[in-house]
Amino acid sequence: MARVIAVVNQKGGVGKTTTTINLAAWLADFGKRVLILDIDPQGNASSGLGIDYKNLNKGLYEVLVDPNTKITEAIKAYKPNFHILPSTPDLAGASVELVEHENREYKLDENLKHVLDLYDFILIDNPPSLGLLTINGLVAAREVLIPVQCEYYALEGLSQLINTIGLIKDHLQPELKILGAVMTMYDSRNKLAQAVFNELYQHFPDKIFRSVIPRNVRIAEAPSHGKPVKDYDPTSAGANAYRRLAQEVILT
Ligand code: ATP
Ligand code: MG
Repeated sequence: MARVIAVVNQKGGVGKTTTTINLAAWLADFGKRVLILDIDPQGNASSGLGIDYKNLNKGLYEVLVDPNTKITEAIKAYKPNFHILPSTPDLAGASVELVEHENREYKLDENLKHVLDLYDFILIDNPPSLGLLTINGLVAAREVLIPVQCEYYALEGLSQLINTIGLIKDHLQPELKILGAVMTMYDSRNKLAQAVFNELYQHFPDKIFRSVIPRNVRIAEAPSHGKPVKDYDPTSAGANAYRRLAQEVILT
């Protein structure tokens, strides 16, 4: 049975998609069978793996709203053991359409049941909001990974996120737990980073990953080549940092 991990932070641009793609890539490199679910209408995880998501017939939108679309029909292979269920631009409307549906919070969870046995890890790249798509992502997951950008406002909103995770656990998905927080875009010259780290400890005692992701230009360049950083520049600091994160996740 797959470990299903939602990568969540309602704050935009903190490294959710980057972490999803690069963690998944290393997990696959370690021989795990990996699936990414791109539940963000921005489609960044899809385009970051070279998928022209705007021109697909079937994507996550169809899987969520059309009972005749099987999840396996929409999954694409980036490598034999590294798959992605892409987003399509229509997904933006799904949160509105789903409001009418019964069990609207469980749509992703219900669909995912059909593929749990096919993967070791399923990583869900969530949009920057706590709306219905993210709620579907959290309900379908059993673990939450929170990328936190090392900057002054990083901790704002974390209490709200933890609160939301608590509500989902109490009402919709009792098995949900926080896997941990990972610091992203770390710049050792930035004096605030240590302060952010210390405050994070108060939010997540024992739950901060040792692997810290540095700010690294290779990480930022890789998506425009449609590749994870480990395939774009395997010896870069960014690739190494995500390899260590993947090792930690496997051992956690
Ligand atoms: P959104 O909330 O819009 O979905 P996100 O949380 O998924 O954003 P990303 O898209 O992963 O954030 O990252 C935001 C930007 O920062 C991207 O341009 C990405 O390439 C860049 N970036 C992410 N991590 C790093 C890093 N460690 N070093 C340098 N650039 C990075
Ligand atoms: Mg993103």
